[in-house]
Amino acid sequence: MVVRIQRRSEAAEFLPFKMNYTLTTPLYYVNDRPHLGSTYTTIACDALARFQRHQDNGVLFVTGVDEHGQKIQRTAEARGVSPQLHCDEISARYRDLWQRWDISQDRFIRTTAPRHLQLVEQFYGRVKASGDVITGRQTGWYCVGCEEYKDDPADAMEPHCPIHQRPLEWRDEENLFFRLSRYQEQIEELVARDDFIAPASRRQEVRNFVQQGLRDFSISRSNVSWGLPVPGQPGHTFYVWFDALLGYLSALLDDGHSIDLNRLNQAGWPASVHVIGKDILRFHAVYWPAMLMSAGLPLPDRVFGHGFLTREGQKMGKSLGNVLDPEVLLERCGTDAVRWYLLRDIQFGDDGDFQQQRFVDLVNNDLANTIGNLLNRTSSMARKWFDDAVPPAGSDAGPEHPLAQQASRTVSIVLSRMPELSFKAGAEAILQLAIAANGHLNDTAPWSRMKQPGQDDVVANDLYVVLEAARVVGVLLSPLLPELSARILAQLGIDAVNGPWKDQLRWGGLTSGSVLPKPNPVMQRLELEEPL
Ligand SMILES: [Zn+2]
Repeated sequence: MVVRIQRRSEAAEFLPFKMNYTLTTPLYYVNDRPHLGSTYTTIACDALARFQRHQDNGVLFVTGVDEHGQKIQRTAEARGVSPQLHCDEISARYRDLWQRWDISQDRFIRTTAPRHLQLVEQFYGRVKASGDVITGRQTGWYCVGCEEYKDDPADAMEPHCPIHQRPLEWRDEENLFFRLSRYQEQIEELVARDDFIAPASRRQEVRNFVQQGLRDFSISRSNVSWGLPVPGQPGHTFYVWFDALLGYLSALLDDGHSIDLNRLNQAGWPASVHVIGKDILRFHAVYWPAMLMSAGLPLPDRVFGHGFLTREGQKMGKSLGNVLDPEVLLERCGTDAVRWYLLRDIQFGDDGDFQQQRFVDLVNNDLANTIGNLLNRTSSMARKWFDDAVPPAGSDAGPEHPLAQQASRTVSIVLSRMPELSFKAGAEAILQLAIAANGHLNDTAPWSRMKQPGQDDVVANDLYVVLEAARVVGVLLSPLLPELSARILAQLGIDAVNGPWKDQLRWGGLTSGSVLPKPNPVMQRLELEEPL
């Protein structure tokens, strides 16, 4: 305990600190194989998790899959396989894909895991004991795709789901209800806060929904066999959303110890942030907090609803045949290129448009030219003139040097913007540092100065500051582009960033006289002649 307190106060000077930083992706619905949207969310969370680990935070990065419900039951039936087999197959694809994208999750939860059932039963017991479960009749228009009742009036003629473009189904069921209406006041207060829902642009929509008055929602289904059985209610299974949200808690308790809700506060709960797509904000910012209140558990600090991706200005869909497959993207472009484009070009939170030409241009300009060539040129000159080693730094290569000043500003921007999930701001600042280093190289032109007598020291100094700036770029890129970061640092003869990076961000980390390996391009140019 003493050790923990010491670490906390040391780090507090550096950044606002939380001993356990828990972040989650949504638990992806295994109706279909992974698509670009889930890959996008997962990449962003991976960057955030890596960043937080560099801040010396105890990070728990949770992802996983949501495996119950009528939609999955029907999909499996249509495929002629059992729902369990279907879930096993799709879950394995997620796991495998995240591994190939080098995603650094700490937990991967499946809601068909037996431990999860135990947790759901415990949680349900608490909610019931709070008097928040009642029997009621639910009628209305239902979208199986969304697994959600829609607000269409009862006499609507052939209503359709705007998301799925499919007819809604009329439902009339006797179900168990969660008494959400009892939490009207608390939820109003919660969503009125400025730090709970992010980005700010998503708050009003949720506030409007809450102000219309919260209605109790059904948490059981009587006609869906592919779900977790409700204790004491034969024939009823839990509504898939009730079960899925609880997956976050199961994941935290999946630490080799017992499933016990009382242990949650030592297991990483509450989460620092749930990162989700904007379409499921209502579940996370309204239903979920009320469920947690009912169970006497603390609320997550923040819910971040990011935007959707289109492709060349069009919504992606099977009917349009323009779906961008994350497997193809990975195979043809590699992780660095895709991560850079998604995190650097799209403000995380806003909708974004995937444009192939822009993708290729940004990757080649930013990574291959601005960063890759800078390192290659500088390293080659240093090796040629200074004995295959980092040149001696002169007296003005210290923290007062303009490049050192810019590096320091860059570090501040990255440290302040990344915790807000402003990956774009962080990436752009890093790129600006590389641009400034290129500028310094061109202004000082060591290749011509080296031809003049007695200029060795000046040239050594100029090359040193550029190499040092490249090192800072390499270190700062670590959360965004871990693979490229490692290659940049290897090119400078140093190890990849592991663990807290505070010391590595100080200017002057490159040791004069240390060996510079033979340069290899750190980033291949992206050549895509065919559409992806
Ligand atoms: Zn729908």
